[in-house]
Amino acid sequence: MYVSTPAIIIKTQKYKEFDEIITAFTKKFGKVSMFAHSSKRIKSKLLSGTQVFSYVDMELDLRQTSSRLFNSKSNDSFYNFSQNLHKYYLASYLCEIIDKTQTENQTELRLFDVFLQTFRIMKDKEVDLRLLRLIFELHLIDALGIKPNLLSCSICRQTNPDLLHNIDMTTGTLVCDECLKLKTPNIFTLDKNLIRFIKYVYNKNIEVSVNAKISPILVEMLDEFNYNYILSFYGDLKLHSIEILKQEEKYDKSRTSRPSN
Ligand SMILES: [Zn+2]
Repeated sequence: MYVSTPAIIIKTQKYKEFDEIITAFTKKFGKVSMFAHSSKRIKSKLLSGTQVFSYVDMELDLRQTSSRLFNSKSNDSFYNFSQNLHKYYLASYLCEIIDKTQTENQTELRLFDVFLQTFRIMKDKEVDLRLLRLIFELHLIDALGIKPNLLSCSICRQTNPDLLHNIDMTTGTLVCDECLKLKTPNIFTLDKNLIRFIKYVYNKNIEVSVNAKISPILVEMLDEFNYNYILSFYGDLKLHSIEILKQEEKYDKSRTSRPSN
């Protein structure tokens, strides 16, 4: 099937001397791996439209397996990420987690928009990149269909936020302090303010939520929550990019918390 779609290039693998296997997260068809003939040749019309982190308009022959890329025109380029290590590692992480959690040829329109918007914020704005990652992860969790239900206790249905701190990590539902006595395995306890922040993220545009003032302790807690939540539903994704990204986040934090003078 001959189709065209906007897409972001998330992975490239060299194949023979001048060819590549490209993995793109496309707007219309979700993740698609495709063969790009001669894309490494200097004169190839595919050369600029097959770089990792590029946002492109592509034309391809879409098949169940072995799709082929015919044309790819760069729309917006994010390769300036390579001039800032933290942005580069974050972009690599976003691409890898999308690659590892998405199924081939399954459309995820909202996640595509979130992904593109995150790249644009990284390119154009000065924001806390760690918080941006965590907000992206919350939206990813939503797109994966495992968004936590943070409205009421899943057992007694009560909605008093003062009693709702515990989240059952196998179902993604809240268990109030009273019902916790009945049920204890795989519970993660969250601060009330963090629950409020997570709800806020789900109700706002990323550009708004990334500028929210949130204490470092809550950021730490959210990081731990996201990690364990994704682990609980997906198992270990074995992401290569996360360790080095976390080191960069620590380095950035120590740099920004140093007195400026
Ligand atoms: Zn309850």
